[in-house]
Amino acid sequence: MAGQAADGTTRVVDKKALLVKYIAERDKRLRADGNDQYLRLEGQLSHYLDDPYTPVAPREPKTDHVTFAFVGGGFAGLVTGARLVEAGVKDVRILEKGGDFGGTWYWNRYPGAQCDTASMIYMPLLEETGHMPSEKYAHAPEILEQCQRIGRQYGLYDNALFHTEVESLTWQEAEHRWLIRTNRGDAFTASFIGLGTGPLHVPKLPGIPGIGDFKGHAFHTSRWDYDYTGGDPKGALMEKLADKRVAIIGTGATSVQAVPHLSRACGKLYVVQRTPSSVDVRANAPIDPDWFKSIAEPGWQKRWLENFTANQAGGAADEDLVQDGWTDLSRRIRSKISDLPPERRTPMDMLAAYEDSDFEKMEEIRSRVDSIVSDRETAQKLKAWYRQLCKRPCFHDAYLQSFNSPSTVLVDTDGQGVEKITEKGFVVAGVEYEVDCIIYASGFEVGTPFEQRAGFDLAGRGGRRLSEAWAEGMKTLHGIHAHGFPNAFLVQPTQGANLISNIPHNLTESGATIAAIVREALDRGAQEVEVTAEAQAAWVDLLLTGMGRMLGSPDCTPGYYNNEGQDPGPAARLNVGYPHGASAFFTYIQGWRSSGAFEGLAFR
Ligand code: NDP
Repeated sequence: MAGQAADGTTRVVDKKALLVKYIAERDKRLRADGNDQYLRLEGQLSHYLDDPYTPVAPREPKTDHVTFAFVGGGFAGLVTGARLVEAGVKDVRILEKGGDFGGTWYWNRYPGAQCDTASMIYMPLLEETGHMPSEKYAHAPEILEQCQRIGRQYGLYDNALFHTEVESLTWQEAEHRWLIRTNRGDAFTASFIGLGTGPLHVPKLPGIPGIGDFKGHAFHTSRWDYDYTGGDPKGALMEKLADKRVAIIGTGATSVQAVPHLSRACGKLYVVQRTPSSVDVRANAPIDPDWFKSIAEPGWQKRWLENFTANQAGGAADEDLVQDGWTDLSRRIRSKISDLPPERRTPMDMLAAYEDSDFEKMEEIRSRVDSIVSDRETAQKLKAWYRQLCKRPCFHDAYLQSFNSPSTVLVDTDGQGVEKITEKGFVVAGVEYEVDCIIYASGFEVGTPFEQRAGFDLAGRGGRRLSEAWAEGMKTLHGIHAHGFPNAFLVQPTQGANLISNIPHNLTESGATIAAIVREALDRGAQEVEVTAEAQAAWVDLLLTGMGRMLGSPDCTPGYYNNEGQDPGPAARLNVGYPHGASAFFTYIQGWRSSGAFEGLAFR
């Protein structure tokens, strides 16, 4: 099999040898403690969660009633709120633990934070708000501003409760409404509730021995301390780091974006790596207003969203409007498959074609490291030895270049992680590195139970908890409705389209579906709307006819895509999407909600 090097030359790829290397690298990293290797930020570590961006404003507890309460003020809450307002539901109350709207974009203000999916499809409600993204991949402040713009345009600020964490949600059978209690003493009711708590919102720290002993300064990337570093989220030089020795622990998508800024600013920067990320070309560019005007006809964003999904997730697409690293991967796979003569389009040959395109892509990405990083040993250590979708693919045009700066040092732990943290710094392979500041780019809880991450466990009909209903795995209709939990709606991608690289498309569709259902319930004068047990069971059966989870081939290096390399248990078989693909799901759900029949739901 042949692959292309970054300099355009063709190289022979030895698939067998590569697989052996992949497995050896995976084995180095497998560990028995899986998700338990991470620390929850509670007790002595709870200060890592403090909000550095907005002071908490005192307010009186709420004891009133609203039509719709939504937990989470990120994209899910904003797009659902917007669609509800458009449908005439004016009293939508969003509850949010941060000090403003934005969700992940409220918290993640680290320097260089930027969307990884093209702004034209990643930023929600661009057409409705009339906003033109400034760049192909917008930076975090602009995305946060878009969240605030949506909040203002749809009047969602009027009723919102910020710095508020929901503690319980209880269905009140007799009143046909939900009782919501929060950490701010609120105890109010809502006819309907929505949950958009997001998959990655609880920061975690690595369970490194001695982590509490460090006497220098330390923070998590999702609570960036600009008072300490100087600079700002727009990328201004962090001038206070000029005389500082700083370590950033972790080299995932966050670190890849922050390191170039740290490298520019720090007296000395140690980038502490356990597993290298695959870092492909970013090719960001400003968006030309004349070009934007020429394409921004009514319905443009829907067309772009659908085109991306069609390219990315198995639909029919004659053109590729977005043209990025995600559609490139899909395009290669499709072209390899279409190169096969018709008699060889068997599942085995198609899988082999898929593998070939992945091996080629990863060879290109590894060869890109050699073409950028001057020190051979450092370049070798920065190469990712796994399939592209084993871990979150990254795209950046300055990360690898940072390692050519004499003040930036890669401390590779050969898959083992940091040995210990001391009062003065950190230890890798027996060597202590003294630093003034440690920045944890160690990610967010993923494989933990929903109720642990959400901070509450829904109590539905008869007091039955959502955790009980889902003890053997998630069970819903469309990823939105759970039987036994009337008037409650989930806004998240699993058991819906399940498209991994552009979650906002899922969220916007869910918002539209929920608004249509609530409108229908109000128009019918129904007090309850609930998925029937039969409709839910039929949907779950349908999901199980699919090919299963697309992430996590057995040779994958551990990470949160594959439950840190551990068997996720039988419940995980339900963490899947519509078996006919994301494009087919969006077509299906649009038809389902516009038919007016709302098949599978009981209105009472
Ligand atoms: P990740 O969970 O992706 O990365 C955590 C990093 O910490 C990994 O490199 C991990 O290594 C490392 N680590 C963990 N424990 C140790 C240890 N003991 N010693 C040394 N290193 C350790 O977190 P991120 O914050 O980077 O990203 C989280 C997710 O947020 C992303 O995957 C992505 O989905 C999203 N994101 C999206 C962005 C966007 O769209 N623009 C930008 C940034 C993030 P190992 O790999 O070995 O586990």
